[in-house]
Amino acid sequence: MKGRVSTTSPRVRGWCPGAWRPMATGDGLLVRVRPEMGRLTRAQGLALCDAAETWGSGLIELTRRANLQLRGVSEAGWPALMAHLVEHRLVAPDAEAERRPALLLAPDWRDGDATHRAARLLQERLDAWPTLPGKWGLALDAGPLPALTEASADLRLERSREGGLLVRADGRALGTPVDDVEAAVALMTRLARWFVDAGGLEAGRMRRFTAPLPEWAAAVAVPAAAFDDAPSLALGAHPAGRVVGLPFGRAPASTLRAALASEAITGIRVTPWRRLLLEGRRMNMNDGGGEPPAGLIHDARDPRLAMDACPGAPYCAQASVATLGLALSMAEKWRERLAERRDERTGQRDIGRVHISGCAKGCARSRPAELCLTGRDGRFDLILGGRADDTPVATGLSEAEVLAALKENK
Ligand code: SF4
Repeated sequence: MKGRVSTTSPRVRGWCPGAWRPMATGDGLLVRVRPEMGRLTRAQGLALCDAAETWGSGLIELTRRANLQLRGVSEAGWPALMAHLVEHRLVAPDAEAERRPALLLAPDWRDGDATHRAARLLQERLDAWPTLPGKWGLALDAGPLPALTEASADLRLERSREGGLLVRADGRALGTPVDDVEAAVALMTRLARWFVDAGGLEAGRMRRFTAPLPEWAAAVAVPAAAFDDAPSLALGAHPAGRVVGLPFGRAPASTLRAALASEAITGIRVTPWRRLLLEGRRMNMNDGGGEPPAGLIHDARDPRLAMDACPGAPYCAQASVATLGLALSMAEKWRERLAERRDERTGQRDIGRVHISGCAKGCARSRPAELCLTGRDGRFDLILGGRADDTPVATGLSEAEVLAALKENK
């Protein structure tokens, strides 16, 4: 039976940082940008690179909720950064907009499809929604198969097994069938009001709010089978462009700028899977689009894809250990072993089986990992088959001891 490590409980916050409401972290302010419709134009991508280098640490991170964030921003530099982000429409001029529920779109949406139309309607109507907890979000996932099942969201627009649309309250196995996108948005709006009126604010998230759904939202429709843990966007050529991976969900702005130097790229779509879809049909190598951008991951066998690592020290104030150096060392030393891992059920490469976490909060991965290393008091705890806050089988390991242990158990 697994328990929770209680001695060094991380600070759990009930809100997510934004751009208007940045969070103080170990290396300065963290400023998070929510790309509208989950997409940046090429010009916006370049403007974000400028912002990271001028006011931040030079790194750009992609979060598990498909947001982009800059670190290392100073209090003094924040106003000028915000003016720049607003000028390039990377941030709404209205701070209130950031308090509305975040929209997470399945990244391969197309103009006019159900995911896109639902997002547009919600953008127009979210102003009239009640005030919801800061972490609330909506997954718009109306492709043939749900792709965002593992992503954090409170209400989900998905397809049923029969192909119709449904709205599913997070944590419930079944959804409420709806006739069309308009009806879906109306139902989401009504469910958000019900959540507030029925006492959901205390629970905070829909998943934790276990009250039975009201009769007018009877959940009777079975969602289509979801994609497994492996993301729906495979690395490489895509009909809309090219999918690339970000090592541990981050890249220097200079790397992204170099990738965007190609005018073949027309935009960037963000995903919750540490991958970007670089839009532009000429980016598709099948169409003769040239060399893939350097510094990003293109090979599905890259061991870094099988690992989750949070920023750790010195980037996060809650971390007592550096995580990224160990992750890179493990990726090198364990290259073949990680590359060969396969999911027993699907035969697919298993993504995220190693988790390196700066503290027990486990920001980089909420699901269990085969091997998890959690920082505590400057050393690592080793957890097998669990989450970052599960009971370790070994404690107080140095980085060298971790690597030696892995070598022995190869
Ligand atoms: S898991 Fe990592 S990023 Fe999250 S709070 Fe802990 S040290 Fe910070």
